[in-house]
Amino acid sequence: MRNRRAAVTGALAVTASLALAACGQSAEGGGKNASGGAEGATIGIAMPTQSSERWIADGRNVVKNLEAKGYKTRLVFGEDDPDQQVAQIENLITQGVKALVVAAIDNKSLNNVLQQAADAHIPVIAYDRLILGSKNVDYYASFDNAKVGELQATYIVEKLGLKDGSKKGPFRIELFAGSNDDNNTKYFFGGAMSVLNPYIEKKQLVVGSGQTALNQVTTLRWDGGTAQKRMDDILTSAYKTERVDAVLSPYDGISIGILSALKSDDYGSKTKPLPVVTGQDAELASVKSIIAGEQTQTVYKDTRELAKVAANMVDAVLHDKKPEVNDDKTYDNGSKVVPAYLLDPVSVDKTNYAQVLVGGGYYTATDLK
Ligand code: BGC
Repeated sequence: MRNRRAAVTGALAVTASLALAACGQSAEGGGKNASGGAEGATIGIAMPTQSSERWIADGRNVVKNLEAKGYKTRLVFGEDDPDQQVAQIENLITQGVKALVVAAIDNKSLNNVLQQAADAHIPVIAYDRLILGSKNVDYYASFDNAKVGELQATYIVEKLGLKDGSKKGPFRIELFAGSNDDNNTKYFFGGAMSVLNPYIEKKQLVVGSGQTALNQVTTLRWDGGTAQKRMDDILTSAYKTERVDAVLSPYDGISIGILSALKSDDYGSKTKPLPVVTGQDAELASVKSIIAGEQTQTVYKDTRELAKVAANMVDAVLHDKKPEVNDDKTYDNGSKVVPAYLLDPVSVDKTNYAQVLVGGGYYTATDLK
């Protein structure tokens, strides 16, 4: 792979500038720091959607980090449409990008377009979501995804008092998972269930709906409205007399949908407290909801750090160096084990949001008002 990259580096730099000049398109940033054949190269960044804040921040941060290294960038959002994402990546390849950073919408829909990238000797970094079934994925930058689920579930058992044995239950819980075409979903859910299952087996936790299998609890494209509808249905059918005490939610947008369903069913009133509701991404609306005492927890993943890791990977590969990785076992995409750098997620609730999110500079105190 190293030789392949080195051999094409010079040729592609020319192609990139010619292609961009020919289209009359400008790309932001300069080429001042990148050296050798990578100098001034344009990097294509394909993000899944602008409907969630985190991906907008990811896009912005990857651009910033690459530009600081002297690259130009082209950033596209597929708006949760797998076909559109494929077309966008095809365009980036045609425009002569020299490397691709891709957060997939559908992890299995990119095989053909990644083959086109490989044929054009364009290295590919899978960003946050692993791309499956293709050998043409060079590196993977993400978080410890199983740990995300473990943090959510541990929060639930601690908050209910099950972990320290101060309460025995039974408590009622409902389970939600992410999109079934996102490889992270099974890691989040698997991590969470590794913590919850022992309590479910001992009947200290009871899933009122009986829906415990991953394929019963996924939420296509992580859509909050879809989750709200499922929660509505569950409350109507399985909670006529009982109350739900906890909801495992994998993502803040889903948590907001779940909370809407709960509030329509009078949860949050004096006689019917809201259940423990987890989340992920520390999105602004959810952090505000945590401060207001509605959502209980979220898992913060510092996208500034992830963007830095991805930009470093691009820079190393284009300079024919091996990027820093810290996991070469976990992420088998069906064609190969993709070498990965995994960052640490952090559990955030009302007690530590100020220290972690404001203290860490992710939000200002004014953002959260
Ligand atoms: C990301 C999560 C995000 C979810 C929905 C996942 O792939 O890892 O951080 O909450 O997609 O956008």
